[in-house]
Amino acid sequence: MKISNLFQQKKPVISFEIFPPKITAPVETIYQTLEGLIKLNPDFISVTYGAGGSNRDRTKEIASTIKNRYNVETLAHLTCVGQTVNEIDQILEGLQQENIENILALRGDPPADVQNYDFSDSDFKYASDLVRHIKNKGNTCVAAAAYPEGHAHCRRLNDDLNWLKFKVDQGVDFLITQLYFDNRVFYNFIENARRMNINCPVVAGVMPVLNAKQVKRIISLCGASMPAKLLIIVDKYGENPEDMEKAGLEYASEQVRDLLDSGVDGVHLYTMNKPQQITEILKNVGRA
Ligand code: FAD
Repeated sequence: MKISNLFQQKKPVISFEIFPPKITAPVETIYQTLEGLIKLNPDFISVTYGAGGSNRDRTKEIASTIKNRYNVETLAHLTCVGQTVNEIDQILEGLQQENIENILALRGDPPADVQNYDFSDSDFKYASDLVRHIKNKGNTCVAAAAYPEGHAHCRRLNDDLNWLKFKVDQGVDFLITQLYFDNRVFYNFIENARRMNINCPVVAGVMPVLNAKQVKRIISLCGASMPAKLLIIVDKYGENPEDMEKAGLEYASEQVRDLLDSGVDGVHLYTMNKPQQITEILKNVGRA
């Protein structure tokens, strides 16, 4: 089923993101995670794509398992940076053979070890090129990423919104946001997006903070801002892992509860492959 149709049938759509296990671990290690998450009846589960295409067969394999073994809808992430049109076409064919109808089309980050990476060398320079390519080839449902606080590399929020509008106009069916920690940021973003005639469903991405080290890493990677309330939590409980996890789950539960009360199109939980913690959040908000 195309996820775009789901938004017409229900609101909110509740979904999860998982990542494939490291290449050194057997792929089957993901099954236990999946079984824990599937018990929560998500509307779909997305599977990340390793930076620069590493692990890419695993994304397909796990997305196929979700769809064809567990009968749950899936969204396969796909990045295009550094990949040729032929390579992308091969991947698209592989996904089609597995009956995967939904793709999150991303540019991806430049390789970490290359300074001043030149995107102009790539067949696809931006996610919008990939969106257009997939849409021109057929009937796939295409999602894309959105950044409520602006993409970390974009100098002006307005530029980022303009490029988002351009990307959506290439055929994006729905958007999933980068994580953020203050719902007001999301609501402002939605208002601005709607003003720009970005009218597709927008799913709010929420990541529970489970330890102090993780939150620092996230902030340094994606530039999400820390509201005072979360800063106080990390200051108070950061040294005590058990209390920190408890407070982080409560914080994420509050975020989700407020989003649900506000009638958002969907909530996408970045699960970090931790079904127990996701179960707790959904229990807290009366969804499990
Ligand atoms: P784009 O939409 O192409 O935007 C990238 C930057 O270029 C932005 O600053 C934008 O403003 C600017 N821009 C866009 N179009 C133009 C244009 N035509 N001219 C000039 N500037 C332009 N990464 C992975 O490696 N694997 C994953 O599985 C993965 N999953 C993700 C899931 C979600 C929900 C999100 C939010 C991000 C994910 N990422 C993933 C990270 C993502 O690949 C990076 O954030 C990447 O740097 C940008 O990808 P994008 O698709 O948003 O790029």
